[in-house]
Amino acid sequence: MGKTSVGVLGLQGDVIEHLEALHRAGLAGLEVKTREELQRVDALIIPGGESTTVAKLLDRFALREPLVARIRGGMPTWGTCMGMIVLSTEIVGMPDQPTLGVLDVAVLRNAFGRQVESAEVPLDIPALGGSPFPGVFIRAPWVERVGEGVEVLCHLQGKAVMVRQGNILGTSFHPELTRDGRMHRWFADWCMRAKSAA
Ligand code: GLN
Repeated sequence: MGKTSVGVLGLQGDVIEHLEALHRAGLAGLEVKTREELQRVDALIIPGGESTTVAKLLDRFALREPLVARIRGGMPTWGTCMGMIVLSTEIVGMPDQPTLGVLDVAVLRNAFGRQVESAEVPLDIPALGGSPFPGVFIRAPWVERVGEGVEVLCHLQGKAVMVRQGNILGTSFHPELTRDGRMHRWFADWCMRAKSAA
């Protein structure tokens, strides 16, 4: 079995930071901007950035339908911050902003007040074990509601900031902007298990 290749959606946002974090976690990262590149990866990260911009670019690059098809087909997919917004089924107060509608959560954009608007906060993530994880929040969303079958893996200030539904993971924070590689390794293990089960 070949090395698991993890794509990073390269339309906008902190793409390089994720590719570097994947490299540190021992994975082959690949920037994904076309349908062909999407077909070549085993898993995908949608990075942080600006969700209204990416919503438009998804259509310009004709990636919306193939992305939804691959995600619904079981490809492990992780959205960080803007990426989680793009994956969600609902953006609170913004019904006209298009999303991929695959992660059954309602998110509130730019939700945290000044305290964690752009800050590093220690997070208790039982799934990772060990010491608190440094959560980097940059104009981050929180998860306001979760649908059935969505697990909440971490809370901050009583709000869900890490959720998983089957093959889809969403985090409000940016593990690619820290030197702590546990989240990328955890995602990598998950991708490898998915690949060997396929
Ligand atoms: N505030 C951005 C948005 O709503 C997300 C911020 C981020 O990804 N760091 O699109």
